[in-house]
Amino acid sequence: EAVELALARIAALEAELGSLLDVAEAGARAHAAELAREGSSRGPLHGVPFLVKANLCWRGRVTSAASRSLESYRPPYDATPIARLAEAGAIPLGSCNMDEFGFGSSGEHSSFGAPRTPGYPSRAPGGPSSGSAAAVAARVTPFALASDTGGSARQPAALCGVSGFKPSYGRISRHGLIAFASSLDTVGVLADSVERIEQVLAATSGADARDATALSLPPLQPEAPREGLRGLRVGVSAEALALATHAPTRARVAAALEVLRSLGAELVPLALPLTRHAVATYQLLSSCEAASNLARYDGLRYGPREPGDGSLQGSIAATRGAGLGAEARRRVLLGTLALSQGEREQWLERAARVRALLREELVACFEQVDVLAGPTVAGPAFRLGERLEDPLAMYACDALTAPASLAGLPAASVPCGTVEDDGVELPVALQLTGAPLADARVLAVARTFQSATSHHLARPALCGALP
Ligand code: GLN
Repeated sequence: EAVELALARIAALEAELGSLLDVAEAGARAHAAELAREGSSRGPLHGVPFLVKANLCWRGRVTSAASRSLESYRPPYDATPIARLAEAGAIPLGSCNMDEFGFGSSGEHSSFGAPRTPGYPSRAPGGPSSGSAAAVAARVTPFALASDTGGSARQPAALCGVSGFKPSYGRISRHGLIAFASSLDTVGVLADSVERIEQVLAATSGADARDATALSLPPLQPEAPREGLRGLRVGVSAEALALATHAPTRARVAAALEVLRSLGAELVPLALPLTRHAVATYQLLSSCEAASNLARYDGLRYGPREPGDGSLQGSIAATRGAGLGAEARRRVLLGTLALSQGEREQWLERAARVRALLREELVACFEQVDVLAGPTVAGPAFRLGERLEDPLAMYACDALTAPASLAGLPAASVPCGTVEDDGVELPVALQLTGAPLADARVLAVARTFQSATSHHLARPALCGALP
């Protein structure tokens, strides 16, 4: 029934949303029938259909990371998080549109057309996990797997009005996640509630012999429900609040902080001056790693090959020129420059030092507070096209999410209401960041916030009439 419902919603909404690149209709039906035959339940995710971002390898299905260079790639294996969810009884149903390889903040850098925000078709759903966020916001499935390198799960979650989570680096195996920036990449989750995220974390986290960077820890168990937040110290960074340049968004976040206070938490003002350098640091380091990771798309092993001038070098150049989109080429060029002899001391090595200092600053603040709370985004969803020609404006979207990524910290984004912008009410969100490996704590605080509010239950107008 759940699979049929999801398929019905896809049939009704997908033409408008453009959130999916592939739907495994027959496979999902067969999977559901098999589970039904089993009879007994495998747990809370038994029979729950879900979607996966198109950069997670799914055996036998096209896994393109929304790139022409992988448009016909069918992996021979499942990414660990997909395999573990299937073991837990969840049913993979389709793969989600995204910015190519995870480069972007609006979905517009997909090679296959930009997804639209449910209910607000002229606005960008955020990105790169745009399709995952849009589909969950439209209640196509209760959750979707995403990835989060610099904010990809949290930022679109905020702009589409759903809950999003980026775990601590290494908490969920990256085996089968198509690499963007290996020291920053995490598998993220988008869902209709924090409880659902906790269920997905319990099923997917834990050591994995196939990923040497997956931490040797047992699967994450949710913290017990708590009455309020008495005794919890919540850090509020002046820099983060100042970055929320849209005044109504700042006011919404301030109201959410008051909810935390009314639940018994103590708000502690903090200064985190190095977080102001997060975008520049993130952009340099992630582009260096991307340039290195994308070197494999040379036409020799994957995807369509262009002959070029007939020479090996000519063919590789022509293949990469045709297979990679404009933003991917921009990142490869920036990263290659910053990695090259005579330049790397100036760019890569300095950025690596700033990252270490920034991490120290963030980790140290958890001696004074239990979690950090602030905005996920500077303002509500911008218009499609608005930042497309201005890469720096697009990169600036990561200002509030990149710090946790650079420091490897767990961070959740939960809806905290809407703000009026040009006559429309658009969602914004509260971001909660935790100390290293405090994933369960962050989620418990987010869950307590959610049980005291109802922002996550709001549905975009277009979904009201549907099953
Ligand atoms: N906006 C970030 C970027 O463009 C998002 C990266 C990510 O999390 N995949 O690099």
